Formats: sequence, structure tokens, C-alpha cells
Amino acid sequence: MPAFSLEPTQTIWCADLRALAADRLRPLAEKGEPGRVNRPLVAELGRLGLLRRLFTSGALDLCLMRESLAYACTEAETALALQGLGAHPVHAHGTPAQRDRWLPAVTDGSAVPAFALSEPEAGSDAGALRLRAEGENADGPRPGPAAVDSVGPRPAPPGEPGPLHAAPDGRRRWVLTGEKCWISNAPEADFYTVFARTSPGGGARGVTAFLVPADRPGLSGGALEMVSPHPIGTLLLDEVPVTADDVLGEVGRGFRVAMGTLDLFRPSVGAFAVGMAQAALDATVAHTARRRAFGGTLKDLQTVSHQVAEMALRTEAARLTVYAAATAHDRHDPGVPARAAMAKLLATETAQYVVDAAVQLHGARALQRGHLLEHLYREVRAPRIYEGASEVQRGIIAKNLYADLEAE
Ligand SMILES: Cc1cc2nc3c(=O)[nH]c(=O)nc-3n(C[C@H](O)[C@H](O)[C@H](O)COP(=O)(O)OP(=O)(O)OC[C@H]3O[C@@H](n4cnc5c(N)ncnc54)[C@H](O)[C@@H]3O)c2cc1C
Repeated sequence: MPAFSLEPTQTIWCADLRALAADRLRPLAEKGEPGRVNRPLVAELGRLGLLRRLFTSGALDLCLMRESLAYACTEAETALALQGLGAHPVHAHGTPAQRDRWLPAVTDGSAVPAFALSEPEAGSDAGALRLRAEGENADGPRPGPAAVDSVGPRPAPPGEPGPLHAAPDGRRRWVLTGEKCWISNAPEADFYTVFARTSPGGGARGVTAFLVPADRPGLSGGALEMVSPHPIGTLLLDEVPVTADDVLGEVGRGFRVAMGTLDLFRPSVGAFAVGMAQAALDATVAHTARRRAFGGTLKDLQTVSHQVAEMALRTEAARLTVYAAATAHDRHDPGVPARAAMAKLLATETAQYVVDAAVQLHGARALQRGHLLEHLYREVRAPRIYEGASEVQRGIIAKNLYADLEAE
């Protein structure tokens, strides 16, 4: 299927999703508390079968869902995306037991997941994360430095799993200690994909992904208030116990789990942005066609109509780049990380431009609390920062451009 032209069934599906978002999801979103997980909204996404599609369809379907929901209800879009982001590591890397325990509840909307990578001192540079996973002797307290010095385990070489102890039942055990910050759905989620350092000084290679249920002892957190109504917070882990049964993927290979998830979700962040840009554009076309000024309407002023044309042009270019990147992902084409980066970068920057221009063309009314554009103006900012800031995306694109030369 060529990515630059949707099938008629896909176009109809998108229209249906926009109608569902406006009629069934927006009323639930309006009843929610800004900045908190809206469980009735998540449950409705489950009832509508949209959460199941997160795990049964590919990147392009994910983009179409996110774009269409964002057009009419950004809160529903975000709730859907976070179910996918938080649970995708379980879907892609979980054991049968982990998948059976959590995925049915995520897809029916009764369990809320979170993806916990960022830390106060490790955002863009996620490989610098410090949250520690320390091996624990299940027979007694962990040995102190003096005990370790003579007979205890030696530090693992960089990139290798850290010191581990087998419990009497043969399972490896660790305790997780540290802090995560700006984690969507925290601290209200039911489980967390937590990325922790299992080998000190190992950089990205010394990181392991753990599935941590919210009721584990030692796990706490607090809500953060953002400019947008996004559920987000901090996590504090104080010797949270985990075992080999909680590992997602392989010990020491957690960064692959994180990056694989982001490769899938990055184009869809762009789709979220395209949905917002289209909503701002449509509102602007309607407004400039009826707002009277200087003996006509705003659209009669060429500077205005050309500005609207520019908004439409950039929105369409961003949409096509997003669809192309998502299709490349679904086909397992080469160059997916760079294409995903291009899609996210172009679409989020475009949406910022389009929403800002829409505010300008609406004048003061756009800045009144409760106006669509006031809402979009707050929503559009964060996607240029999360899942890799725009500058980080440029870095990925550049690295891939020069990679071939370096390989010669
Ligand atoms: C609404 C929202 C939701 C989020 N949800 C989650 C979540 O669910 N899970 C999670 O783990 N994290 C989440 N985050 C955190 C997000 O991933 C980080 O904010 C992001 O990675 C950037 O990290 P930072 O904020 O520490 O900025 P920093 O890393 O300090 O970067 C600040 C700025 O420095 C510049 N910069 C950084 N690196 C480079 C570079 N290599 N080249 C050039 N310039 C650079 C960029 O301008 C960047 O914006 C969320 C953030 C927001 C705002």
C-alpha cells in the first residue's frame, strides 16, 4: 500500500474516529481532572476496541488513530498513546506470564501502564540514567562494601550484567533504588516499565527493563502540574524488590527495549501533531471566512489567505512524512530510525507553527480560556520535547546521513 495515499476504508475509519472522539470521548474528557489519569476515558477507549488495535496493528494504524483522535479530543489521544507507550515493552518483550497478567487489562482499559525512562539528570541523554538495580542475596541483607571486598562478587565489566545472587528458588533478585521524573501516568499507573542500571558505568549497554507493578513496596511518587492537561509525575524507588520474572527482554539489553518502543512511537507523536495542526487549520479557515474586517472578510486579505495556504501546505507535508515513516516501519524498510526522526521533527515543529499562526489569525478570542486554540496552544508545545527533543531528532538524522560514509 503506497503511504502517500490512504485506502478508502482507511479514510472512512479516520472519519469515524473523529466522530467518536467528538461525540463519545470529548464529553468524558471534559469530566476528567486536568493532569490526572482519566479512567472512564481509558475504559471507553477499551470498549471501543481502540486499545486492542494498539497491539494488533502496525505503525500506520497507530498514526491514523492518533491523528484522528487528536483532531477532536487531545486528551483521548494522549490516553490512547500512553496505553501503548507503557505497555508496548510488555507486548514486544514480555514473557507469557507478564503478557497474560497485564495486556488483557491494558486493552480493556482497566489497567494503566507507564514508560519510566527519564530521570532528573538523564532526559535527552537517557543512557546516563542512574536508577540502580542491585543484586540482593535473598538469604539475608545485601553485603556491605567490606564484605564484598574479600569474598563478594566483583563488579561486572561495562556492558555485562551486574552482580547477581540466586535466591534459594533459583531466581535472580535485585532491588531498584533511584528516581524517575516526568513520567506520564505516574504516580497513578498500575504498572511501570522501569529502566534501571544493572551494570555500573556501562552506559546504554548496562541498562535493564523491569516490569514493576504499582503495589511493590518502596515505590512512591507525586503528580506534576504541566502547562498542558497531561497526567504526569515523579517516581521514587526505595529498594523496590524485583526478580528475574520481572525483567523485560534480556538483562543488560533494556536500552534496546526503550529504543524499539520509541522507533514505533516517534512517527505517531508526529501524527498527534498533525491532528492538532489540522484542527487549528480548519478552525482558521472557518473563522477567516466569516470574520468581517475592512468591508469584507479576513480571507479577502491576501496576506491572510496566503498565510492559511501556507498552514495547509505545511500540514499536508508533515502528514505525508508521518505516513511514509510509519509505512517504512511496518515494512521493516532500512533507515527507520532516521525516517521516524524526520516525521516527528517535521510534524511537531509544523504543528507549533500552524497553531501559533491560527492564534494570530483568530486574534484575542483564541487566547480566552476554553477556546480550542488556547487548548491547542498549550498542548502543542510538549511533543517538541518528549520522546526526543527536536535537536535530538536532527542528531539522529545527521548520524544516519554520515553513517554510510564512515562505513566505507
Ligand atoms: C508532557 C511530557 C510527557 C513526558 N512523558 C514521559 C514518559 O512517559 N516517560 C519518560 O521516560 N519521559 C517522559 N517525558 C520526559 C521527556 O522524555 C524528556 O523531557 C526529554 O527526553 C528531554 O529531556 P529533558 O527535559 O531532561 O531535557 P534535556 O535533556 O535537559 O534537554 C534540554 C534541551 O537541550 C537541548 N539538547 C539536549 N540534547 C541535545 C542534543 N543531543 N543536541 C542538541 N541539543 C540538545 C534541546 O534543546 C533540549 O530540549 C515527558 C516529558 C513531557 C514534557
